Amino acid sequence: MRSSFYQFTLSELQKLLQDNGLPTAGASRLYNWHYKKRRFESCEAELAKATREFLVQKISFDLPVIDSIQKSEDRTVKFLFRLQDGKKVETVILPSNRKYSICLSSQVGCAMKCSFCHTGLQGLERHLETHEIVSQLLAAQKWLTENRPEGDKIETIVFMGQGEPLHNFDSVRKACEIFLSQNGLSMAKDKITISTAGYLPGLERWKNEMPDVNIALSLHAIDPQKRSELIPINTKFPVEKVLDLVNQIPKNKKRFVIYEYLLARGFNDTTEDANLLGEALKGKKAFVNIIPFNPFPGTKYERPSVEEAEAFKAKLDDRGLVSLIRFTKGHEILAACGQLNSKG
Ligand code: SF4
Repeated sequence: MRSSFYQFTLSELQKLLQDNGLPTAGASRLYNWHYKKRRFESCEAELAKATREFLVQKISFDLPVIDSIQKSEDRTVKFLFRLQDGKKVETVILPSNRKYSICLSSQVGCAMKCSFCHTGLQGLERHLETHEIVSQLLAAQKWLTENRPEGDKIETIVFMGQGEPLHNFDSVRKACEIFLSQNGLSMAKDKITISTAGYLPGLERWKNEMPDVNIALSLHAIDPQKRSELIPINTKFPVEKVLDLVNQIPKNKKRFVIYEYLLARGFNDTTEDANLLGEALKGKKAFVNIIPFNPFPGTKYERPSVEEAEAFKAKLDDRGLVSLIRFTKGHEILAACGQLNSKG
């Protein structure tokens, strides 16, 4: 069976070629061709004949197959990709000033079972391998180049699709390394954000192992009962411990923590909720993203009105917290935060 090209960091690729008696220079040429130049046909001219023969036999450049595409009026696009074993994952691209952000999935389904999330209802089917994460971006990039060439650059990556990225730490970390590689896509560190529901074992590894990318922590409530209802792992990994660990991750001017707060009408939008949030983030250089809940079939939570979301924001303003209301894109095609579910 052939290995996917998108599984290898540059140094792994160099070693692979070396172990097979081939010139290691081929690795950076391949990285340059497929990632920097964004070419999808095979790289022929710049490689030694023996390297080309090796690639044909041992390496696959296949991208996931597009099973279906949904486009919303605001130009958000949701892809349902079919993986080699037939499993499916969703990936979303969101337009912003002739560029795009991409929301990547890290697992098929998710084990965290957050009650406000369509993916959580699906349960965890399996982790994605590195190449299945990297190739979501390349397949979306290929579609953009072919269909919207006028402004097709994917500039920002968020791991906010299906799955808890820190529950699949090794694959996500390696995918970030590939995205950041100077010989490849050369994404800027501050253009990559990994979102977590507060999966403590992954956060414990973050400080020493993850490249300097941004972190988005889903708080959604501080009250233990409410947070545990929204994010059941809160009973095992309480928010105080999670905040403690996040505090220990070094920050700098460009690298900061975004605190996500999903707002559900009549559930976590009270003055007491704002008080608890203000206390929990006191003294931190905190930025809160208020995300009005995006409904999906069968959910019990309700989306707040614009006025209700603004009223909650005003409560945070009063407590000195910097926040922004994120009216997410693509909710009519179920492409917004918490709405993804590869089983439809
Ligand atoms: S919100 Fe994230 S962590 Fe929670 S169930 Fe959904 S995908 Fe998993």
